[in-house]
Amino acid sequence: MDLGHHELDYLAQAHWHHFHYRIGAMTGLDRIRREVLVGPVVEEDGTEVTAARRYPYDTLVLAVGSLTNDFATPGVVERAIRLETPEQAARFHRRLINACLRAQGQTEPLRPGQLQVAIIGAGATGVELAAALRKTTRDLVAFGLDRIDPDKDITLHLIEAAERILPALPSRIATAATDLLRRLGVKVYTGARVAALTADGITLADGRVIVAELVVWAAGVMAPAFLKNIAGLETNAINQLVVCQTLQTTRDDDIFAIGDCAACPWPERRGTVPPRAQAAHQQATHLFKQLKRRLAGRTLEPWHYRDFGSLVSFGEYSTVGSLMGKLVGRSLFVEGYFARFMYLSLYKMHEYELHGPVKVALETLARLITRRTEPQVKLH
Ligand SMILES: Cc1cc2nc3c(=O)[nH]c(=O)nc-3n(C[C@H](O)[C@H](O)[C@H](O)COP(=O)(O)OP(=O)(O)OC[C@H]3O[C@@H](n4cnc5c(N)ncnc54)[C@H](O)[C@@H]3O)c2cc1C
Repeated sequence: MDLGHHELDYLAQAHWHHFHYRIGAMTGLDRIRREVLVGPVVEEDGTEVTAARRYPYDTLVLAVGSLTNDFATPGVVERAIRLETPEQAARFHRRLINACLRAQGQTEPLRPGQLQVAIIGAGATGVELAAALRKTTRDLVAFGLDRIDPDKDITLHLIEAAERILPALPSRIATAATDLLRRLGVKVYTGARVAALTADGITLADGRVIVAELVVWAAGVMAPAFLKNIAGLETNAINQLVVCQTLQTTRDDDIFAIGDCAACPWPERRGTVPPRAQAAHQQATHLFKQLKRRLAGRTLEPWHYRDFGSLVSFGEYSTVGSLMGKLVGRSLFVEGYFARFMYLSLYKMHEYELHGPVKVALETLARLITRRTEPQVKLH
């Protein structure tokens, strides 16, 4: 859909909510002088916009998120599309539309691999993407690409190394999701570890080859490489900063890390908190209160992750998930309209946190109106 419509303008956000926004990527950390190193910002032609700078701190919160982990699989960098940035998503969208337009325009039969899309990684992102692609390709073809049969000609492959899809979620969700994917005609491969991406296609560890024109890598996350052992702080194998229950880094009480870039203990599961939006959100809310305590000279309270459950959206086809914890007292499987309503309200809650009630109400109304005048798939 329209990227500009949903993106957050940090300069405006800072102006409206009383903080300073400084453009530029953090490149390093000087713990002795207590300074954050920020790299220069350059235009596409190399012209410098802002020079490299240093910003002093007395308390530092790192929340730089994560990137896709390709586990050093050969061919991924050259041949797969990742979905980390809006630009990558836009590129994938453009390639999908162009692949359909190309097939529509040709007189010869489809080549092997043509109009085949492979998604590697059947976590929530991969599963949701498969369902969204089925809907998008059906909508796209309905806009006059009459030489393509979306369900017959466009094949979606969903490849997962674990023994089932959605390995991090309860098995009941995975079973319901597998059934929905089957009904949407998505080919699901489980226990299928990708060994390499080559010009011939995707080679699995067991020797099978899947030929696909478009390959999306949606498996695994890792924190940005610049964090690895940054200024002597403790990091784990995927570059996350190791933090204590107070969200302070293990080797420096003045540096906090939250969100995907932090490895925070989850004692109940004997592991670390998963890299998910609800964890990042809870940590941010907790840390906001703790920073006030810290400024008042009081001791910090520990943070404990509360898993409220998971929802996996199949767009207009369905939504499945589970609600957990204190909200319902036990794990409750949800699907259909109720789950869909919850999924949509999560997005609204996120917008509410960012913009407040008036803007969210106005934008919701505006989208309800424009929904009726615009196609439900971006056609160019
Ligand atoms: C395609 C996709 C779908 C997802 N869907 C879901 C979902 O449905 N539910 C869910 O719970 N989670 C989902 N996630 C995961 C979720 O997005 C993350 O868990 C969450 O955004 C983590 O929040 P964060 O604040 O830690 O990081 P982010 O939201 O990634 O924010 C980090 C920010 O730091 C900036 N940054 C990075 N490096 C630097 C640097 N060096 N200097 C300055 N700034 C920097 C980045 O540009 C970014 O704006 C999804 C992720 C992806 C990629």
